[in-house]
Amino acid sequence: MKLIQQLEHQLQTLNDASLLRRRRTAETACTPPMQVDGQAMLAFCSNDYLGLAAYPRIVAALQEGAALYGAGSGASHLISGHSQAHALLEQRLANALSPYLTSARALYFCTGYMANLAILTALAAADSHTEIFSEQHNHASLIDGARLSKATVTIYPHSDTMALAHLLNASTASNKIVVTDSVFSMDGDLAPLPDLLALCQQHDAWLVIDDAHGFGTLGARGLGALEHFQLQTPHIIYMGTLGKAAGVGGAFVAAHTSVIEWLIQRARPYIYTTAAAPALAHALLTSLDLMQSDEGMARRQHLQKLIQQLQTSLSLQRWRLMPSNTAIQPLLVGSNAAAMQLSQQLYAQGLWVPAIRPPTVPEGTARLRITLSAAHTTQDVEKLVAALHVLEKNS
Ligand SMILES: *Cc1c(COP(=O)(O)O)cnc(C)c1O
Repeated sequence: MKLIQQLEHQLQTLNDASLLRRRRTAETACTPPMQVDGQAMLAFCSNDYLGLAAYPRIVAALQEGAALYGAGSGASHLISGHSQAHALLEQRLANALSPYLTSARALYFCTGYMANLAILTALAAADSHTEIFSEQHNHASLIDGARLSKATVTIYPHSDTMALAHLLNASTASNKIVVTDSVFSMDGDLAPLPDLLALCQQHDAWLVIDDAHGFGTLGARGLGALEHFQLQTPHIIYMGTLGKAAGVGGAFVAAHTSVIEWLIQRARPYIYTTAAAPALAHALLTSLDLMQSDEGMARRQHLQKLIQQLQTSLSLQRWRLMPSNTAIQPLLVGSNAAAMQLSQQLYAQGLWVPAIRPPTVPEGTARLRITLSAAHTTQDVEKLVAALHVLEKNS
């Protein structure tokens, strides 16, 4: 069949360029020690930054949620799938973020991917003369949301607020939206959010912040980028995910109550999908308790200690850690083949660190994406550092 042959040819091309991706099958819960495809591994790849994905109290809350509300929601939120558990979670999130967002309300989504599509398509639908200013290193879900919105999309260079200022000045759009990751997912660096907010206020533009890697890890109480930078404004539309540091799944948007009402009325990725299981929302109440408690604080402190340990103990000549103070510590390698080989060599020693290649990152910047978690021990980090030292010397 011609269609199948065409696909097989394309797949071969990917394989030849060391770009074929394969999935590994985890046989145990998401913790640093894992059983993967029958082998014992030490993992440095999850986004479970606080080590909550397998935390016993959250697992128990998920079971309790299933006993209370059943296994599934049965329908979309606007039909009959909106449960008390979802409502309580949204109230809880709105209260937590209200010091930062004027008249805050929160809306729970099945995934962060869908939340980002919802925000950008719905905001653009409010005004036919919309321009979206999208940061160069934004996550794929923001890129897709901008495309799907049919608005004019202008990409501004990474972390370059001067360039963005020029673009905003030149824009004639009546609805301007600046959209950025807070912590860049493949680089680990932070966006200059206070400067971006000042620009947005000056130009009466929305600032959409994707805090997928900040919620739970940044800020004294883990409330993310808004707490970290102490931002306070009705201009921000905030998206936090709940499957990373929060350890469960789904995402939420927090913003001015009128923005949230507009999403409920108009955002197709919110309206036309079955609501997530209420048990997930129920478990998330326990996860938020933990995140904001002293236990959560201690976990963030331990994570920070591990980040410093990695940075000070790793001493390499050719590969280098990219500038980042977050749990995302990418090791820049360069070519796809070299990054793949390094990842495979580590894997053979029981160390699981994924190689990230184009198109996820720019050509020639293939890297290992080391992610640290509060569930790692200092010995875990020592092991990884020792293995990398030996591999560089022998390569
Ligand atoms: C993971 C991620 C998302 C998507 O969130 P999901 O809940 O996994 O769909 C969005 N933005 C960024 C920056 C992410 O890292």
